[in-house]
Amino acid sequence: MNNNKSEIKFLVDFMCGRLAKWLRILGYDTEFYKEKSRNKILIESLREQRIILTRDTKLSNKKAYKILFIKSDKIREQIKQVLKEFNLKLDKEKFFSRCSLCNKLVVKIEKDKVKDEIPLYVYESQQEFYQCPECKRIYWQGSHFELFNKEIQQILNKK
Ligand SMILES: [Zn+2]
Repeated sequence: MNNNKSEIKFLVDFMCGRLAKWLRILGYDTEFYKEKSRNKILIESLREQRIILTRDTKLSNKKAYKILFIKSDKIREQIKQVLKEFNLKLDKEKFFSRCSLCNKLVVKIEKDKVKDEIPLYVYESQQEFYQCPECKRIYWQGSHFELFNKEIQQILNKK
């Protein structure tokens, strides 16, 4: 946990909600900014040293910590653009380390404690469970994890 020297942080505006969710799933610290006020998002970017990801062309000439104008409205292209722009190397270990809803780092939770909150087949087939400290959502590496891996590989390989 002590190698956060170059940890990149994002601030995604209301036009790119799906992108925020995906970046969180990939393990990146990504705040989602719902409000439409341009000033506030700029201030937050500077204060927290977050890179703004936006489709708002009027923002791109403003002063912020850093701004990346997202070119496409297609989620695959958006992810590709961000990864390419910042030369990000994906780390499988970090996948699903954050809650896709709150951006909080999930924490490991004992299997017995989640028994009543998950489907029985999940309880019986999975060993490791994680929980979001904020919304209490429970995560595990089930079949969706494999699907996600496949999808992200496709995104990365597609030219
Ligand atoms: Zn959460």
